[in-house]
Amino acid sequence: MSTEARAATTLEKAGSRSYIDLFSDSQTRPSSGMRQAMASAVVGDEQSDEDPTTLRLCAAVAELLGMEAGVFLPSGTMCNLISILVHTQPGDEVVCDHAAHIYGTEAAGAAAIAGVSIRPVFSPHGVFGVEDLARAVRSTSRTAPRTKMLSVEQSTNFTGGAVWSLDQLQAVRDFSKARGMRCHMDVARLLNAVAATGVNAAELVRGWDSAWLDLTKGLACPVGAVLCGSKDFVDQAWQWKYRLGGAMRQSGVLAAAGLYALEHYADQAAKDNANAKVLHRCLSASSSFQFDPPAPATNIVRFAVDGFSPSEFSKACASAGVRVRAIDEQYLRAVCHLDVSEEEVRRAAGVMVRVATCALHAVNPATA
Ligand SMILES: *Cc1c(COP(=O)(O)O)cnc(C)c1O
Repeated sequence: MSTEARAATTLEKAGSRSYIDLFSDSQTRPSSGMRQAMASAVVGDEQSDEDPTTLRLCAAVAELLGMEAGVFLPSGTMCNLISILVHTQPGDEVVCDHAAHIYGTEAAGAAAIAGVSIRPVFSPHGVFGVEDLARAVRSTSRTAPRTKMLSVEQSTNFTGGAVWSLDQLQAVRDFSKARGMRCHMDVARLLNAVAATGVNAAELVRGWDSAWLDLTKGLACPVGAVLCGSKDFVDQAWQWKYRLGGAMRQSGVLAAAGLYALEHYADQAAKDNANAKVLHRCLSASSSFQFDPPAPATNIVRFAVDGFSPSEFSKACASAGVRVRAIDEQYLRAVCHLDVSEEEVRRAAGVMVRVATCALHAVNPATA
């Protein structure tokens, strides 16, 4: 075998695994094509705007979102934090859903670093209307914090992959704008939301002050997200990027992965959404599964299993070669992505049904 062929085989193996991984779409791994694009990236000094590949990626994502400018950041978490830092002052309040990533899964960066409080809205699937929002927005007074910012997830994560319709987005945006608030959209799974709604990305985020695309959710990149907004917003975001230690050097090696993903995986989200429907259909053959929402809108299937706690079920599946995630005391989550084919989804569903049915048999041996 030639050295190149051996290197290519090693690269292929580097992406493979021995189980079916429905834990998260963050588990997608760089393909050999992506690794080659990274290896040959043209690079420069990112923090002096001299890395041509990073500049190209930022321009590409800004164009996708129909926004003026973009900035490359290490993670979606930093995109959310910097958006809060730009849009608010310490002591202000941010409204978002109770299960939003920004609230429960970012180590309270909003409080610890931006000094803001969060006012959660309790909606079953992370999609709420103007009435819920109106209850969360505080009226001006000497004693109340100022409600300064709205953040919504499109599509939602821990509440089961739900999507906002364009009308729903515009309703909360207009309500917030009329009260002088800034509007931020956490579009970590932008392409899944676009595939589910049939509305293009720029249309979805039009009139919002900031939005970002995660390159590590379903897009196989090892690192990175691009935060977009007006030129002025991105200038301010750059200051925070420096302060937080997020400014980089030859980041073109990473940005090349993002450009490769946008070029090669743009259609993947529709397939992942379709695979989630396949998974839902296959699992529905067993009455042990309760789905919430009742059917998946995007690539996430959230469910409970009769006779199992979520952590028991995820452990039992793991020992049978399928990885799913227990997200709380009630629900599990299975996420479809690039590295799981439809055939593997069907196989995983078979394993999950078998595991669930074993429990019923254990409870009632007469049915075994
Ligand atoms: C994953 C995720 C984030 C954080 O992104 P990282 O790149 O993992 O930091 C934020 N919001 C949502 C909805 C997510 O799913």
